[in-house]
Amino acid sequence: QAATPASATLRSPAALRRLLSALAILEQRDGVLNTGSLSAITAAKKLGGSIHGFVAGSGIKPVAEEAAKVEGVDKIISVENGVYDKGLPENYAPLLVENIKKGGYTHVIAGHTAFGKNLMPRVAALLDSQQISDITAIEDEKTFVRPIYAGNAIATVESSDAIKIITIRGTAFAAAEVAGGKAPIEDGVDPKAESDTEWISEDLAKSDRPDLATAPKVVSGGRGLKSKEEFDRIMNPLADSLGAAVGASRAAVDSGYADNSLQVGQTGKVVAPQLYLAVGISGAIQHLAGMKDSKVIAAINKDPDAPIFQVADVGLVGDLFDKVPELTEKLSKA
Ligand code: FAD
Repeated sequence: QAATPASATLRSPAALRRLLSALAILEQRDGVLNTGSLSAITAAKKLGGSIHGFVAGSGIKPVAEEAAKVEGVDKIISVENGVYDKGLPENYAPLLVENIKKGGYTHVIAGHTAFGKNLMPRVAALLDSQQISDITAIEDEKTFVRPIYAGNAIATVESSDAIKIITIRGTAFAAAEVAGGKAPIEDGVDPKAESDTEWISEDLAKSDRPDLATAPKVVSGGRGLKSKEEFDRIMNPLADSLGAAVGASRAAVDSGYADNSLQVGQTGKVVAPQLYLAVGISGAIQHLAGMKDSKVIAAINKDPDAPIFQVADVGLVGDLFDKVPELTEKLSKA
């Protein structure tokens, strides 16, 4: 699914478009707007009605000001309260529901990220709506396209709910540009709902490499790497030589070669970089579900019949322990 040009709105009659209003949920972490969530604005633009962006957390003003610069956004709704900092759905869902009711929105759109997947089903339940998950296209204001069965089939679904609660696949909608806009910022309602859930702590995997979900280049390693030591020895220099993020197959993650956060696929991250290089990965359907929309797919595998070669634009049949260091050396000299 190609990214939707921001200007390509639906061909609904102008009167209908005037009735449509979308609220795009913008994620923030430690005061920084998650650029991935800007895809929700691109999706909202496709509907053609008015668009409000929503941000909440402590010290939220600079984030709201940044979001207000996104071209095509009519208003930013901002709620200042540290209880929303970590996006706990127990706190965030009642907050969102109050603001959705106040704004009278027809569509509420968030990224299909850990935050969106955690939050939006609760919001849908509280509004008695059927949530529409992980869409890759919008056909009209009530018709949406979404992959099912790990991308093996594409379903077109129609919703008659008054408020459509939607998560979008980030790789299908380009992030809206933070430029050219000057939307007013308005304080949202804060229900300050009491919740039994409290944020205690988090343990984040730190990396100097680009973020896997948004990196333009990804090199992924599979079970063919044989061990964690070999995974690190082979994959890290390759990633550095390309300025790429590192990913992994589930077999590599389950075998302890790579961190869980690096898993690409049906039960991992969905990526669509300019370049995806699969090393020692067979190309199981569950892995393809997470990377088959990459612009250029390259694969190194010793088995010429490995299924990864069926989706690869460029393939190299050979032993990765010889080929990858050779490639890394050439790339480093280039
Ligand atoms: P293998 O299938 O074992 O392939 C290893 C490959 O390395 C082989 O093709 C082999 O030829 C090659 N190789 C070995 N040695 C060398 C060498 N020296 N040089 C070059 N090539 C070599 N998988 C995911 O990746 N992501 C998911 O999100 C995911 N979700 C799943 C969800 C469900 C419900 C299920 C049932 C499965 C899921 N899987 C997922 C698992 C998936 O089915 C495969 O088991 C997995 O992707 C295989 O990983 P792999 O390609 O690294 O390993």
